[in-house]
Amino acid sequence: MGVQWRSLDVPGMDRLQGAGVYYGGGTTEALSCKDETVYVVGGANSAGQAAMHFSKYAAKVVMLIRGASLTATMSYYLIEQIEKTPNIEVCSRSVVAGVFGEQRLECISVQNTETGEMRQLPASSLFIFIGAQPRTEWLDGVVMRDKLGFVLSGPDLLIDGKRPKSWTLERDPSLLETSVPGIFAVGDVRHGSVKRVASGVGEGAVVVQFIHQYLAKV
Ligand SMILES: Cc1cc2nc3c(=O)[nH]c(=O)nc-3n(C[C@H](O)[C@H](O)[C@H](O)COP(=O)(O)OP(=O)(O)OC[C@H]3O[C@@H](n4cnc5c(N)ncnc54)[C@H](O)[C@@H]3O)c2cc1C
Repeated sequence: MGVQWRSLDVPGMDRLQGAGVYYGGGTTEALSCKDETVYVVGGANSAGQAAMHFSKYAAKVVMLIRGASLTATMSYYLIEQIEKTPNIEVCSRSVVAGVFGEQRLECISVQNTETGEMRQLPASSLFIFIGAQPRTEWLDGVVMRDKLGFVLSGPDLLIDGKRPKSWTLERDPSLLETSVPGIFAVGDVRHGSVKRVASGVGEGAVVVQFIHQYLAKV
């Protein structure tokens, strides 16, 4: 079922999306950003986790956040990690006003929301984390979801090593299996998913094996 993404509607996005400008990402892209300055848009946990990950490879990570600080939008443990990471800079009250480049991203314009001041910054990688919401309300009471509505599966269902109450079998849920035996979740809708095409396709291929295993025992 995927997720509903919030989009960044600024000039240049249509042309440069996929060519230096990306929604989500982080895990796989980090290696290709080695020694670059990476811009991350957003101040919630997904942006923070991506910034931490990029900081291991990139020369510098610049987080562009609309608010005055991260405290209202990000978990404390992550803010602490970011503060301790010397190559992450948090630019508060900053929004992307445009993205520019011929074949791929070359520069972004960033506006200060307080003063209105506009800056042009050279950039080759911009990762956008401004919200993705699963449309799983109709699954309420059917399969277990996290507090944002993403479907829980496999080891994420075990709390203190205990299986969920709805679980009726003598084995643990398999990797992509939900809290109901025989119902599986793959792709963006799954809690903890990578949110890339290749991972969605990969999970779809892997789940076939689990479905066969399940069907062999019913
Ligand atoms: C703007 C943008 C750019 C992206 N760029 C990249 C990129 O460059 N590289 C990359 O790897 N990934 C990219 N992604 C992420 C990638 O698109 C997703 O990770 C991938 O599409 C997830 O696949 P999925 O099958 O889980 O969900 P989706 O592709 O979202 O498919 C879910 C489908 O289920 C349908 N659906 C939802 N609810 C129901 C329902 N109740 N009943 C029936 N059907 C339903 C939806 O309409 C949709 O067609 C991008 C995403 C966005 C939004």
